[in-house]
Amino acid sequence: MAMHTLLARQIKRHLNAVDLAAEPWQSFLAAIDDAYRGFDEDREMSERSMQLSSVELIDASSELRAILQAFPDVMLHVDDTGLVVASRGRGHRRRWTDGQVLGRRLPELVPVGFATALTDALRATITRGVAETLELVEEDDGREVIDEIRLAPLGPTGAIVLVRDVTEQRRAVDLRLAKEAAEATSVAKGVFLANMSHELRTPLNAIVGYAEMLGEDATTMGSQTLVDDLGRIVTAGRHLMKIVNDVLDITKIEAGRLSVDLQLVNVDALVSDVMAAVRPMGAANQNQMVATVMPELPLVYTDATKLKQVLINLVGNACKFTHAGSVEFDVRLVGSAGCSEIAFVVRDTGIGIAPDQIPSLFQDFRQVDSSNTRRYGGTGLGLSISRRLCNLLGGDITVVSQIGKGSVFTAWLPVGLETAEPIPWPAESAVLEESL
Ligand code: ADP
Repeated sequence: MAMHTLLARQIKRHLNAVDLAAEPWQSFLAAIDDAYRGFDEDREMSERSMQLSSVELIDASSELRAILQAFPDVMLHVDDTGLVVASRGRGHRRRWTDGQVLGRRLPELVPVGFATALTDALRATITRGVAETLELVEEDDGREVIDEIRLAPLGPTGAIVLVRDVTEQRRAVDLRLAKEAAEATSVAKGVFLANMSHELRTPLNAIVGYAEMLGEDATTMGSQTLVDDLGRIVTAGRHLMKIVNDVLDITKIEAGRLSVDLQLVNVDALVSDVMAAVRPMGAANQNQMVATVMPELPLVYTDATKLKQVLINLVGNACKFTHAGSVEFDVRLVGSAGCSEIAFVVRDTGIGIAPDQIPSLFQDFRQVDSSNTRRYGGTGLGLSISRRLCNLLGGDITVVSQIGKGSVFTAWLPVGLETAEPIPWPAESAVLEESL
């Protein structure tokens, strides 16, 4: 039987005469031995757990050190009098660097106007054990900078103070709010313009309609002065109607409310419609009008109404800004097989556009010069609407022009289905430019 050695030695020394091998000594010694074995196991267990917890402690403290190193904020330890006794982290501003803060009282580190608020917050944190957050806003090199200062209680002996530069964060929030406000304003503006345009069209229709009727009556009565005056009302009314319609279009496009109705379009028929619409304008300016459509042109998968609006604007402009010249409307497939576009090329020999005016041609209400406008009429919205419509259909409009010689406006559209052989481009574009 195993017996605790130290105990066995003591018993043998004091009870020398006793026969330890006999009962009841044998049972007594076995009970003691059992009890000691329990003590040994407990001690081994507690030693093992002490070893483990010291390993955990080392792990935890190195983890804490790593966290503190990665910490983006300045961290100050202040005592119950507000004295900075330790500091950690990067000082994003000179004020918060080690050399500036150590051994000084926290309120001394901030501008005088802010010191009282900071003192009160610090007192509340230390005496009442409540966390406080303050924001220090100031000018730095002409720009506004913001520090967020958080005070956390550290028992009655002091507090931990975290300082974070939140300038960029606040700026991002301000920008987001400003963007949201601008978007809301833009939506409101769109709704207002759409409603206004709608409300304006009804009375305008009546004005133009009645002026036309009265004009017919005046013609029957043979009153030329009245006919002329009523004619001016009709012209001005139609002009106003065009502006209202253009504004409505722009508003709808900007609000993303203009839907595209895609279908397979026969380009030949579309070109005939366009020419029919603009021929009177061309004839009025004694222009030669020619339309050519490349043979076997495929059907184009697009929105016929919108495309027609674009082309009427381009050919209409060519007729308007050309006198006793020529307007050619040429439609062809360009590019390479598998990657081709359809080009609607409108070439005129009109007044042309100065190079410095070309970049602003597609801006809203932009006309090359106001004297031209008076001479030629127009709203300055046609090209900007046309380009946006073209973009909506997946294409674009380009222009080359030479003052006094003429212009070439080209509307480009992707082709959905193809059968004809496309003509290579950009060699073609060089030819176009040379043709002026
Ligand atoms: P508008 O209703 O005034 O014609 P557009 O947006 O269609 O508005 O055209 C803007 C301006 O671009 C015109 O006022 C004109 O000065 C110039 N422009 C457009 N097309 C031509 C062209 N074919 N030849 C010369 N100038 C043109």
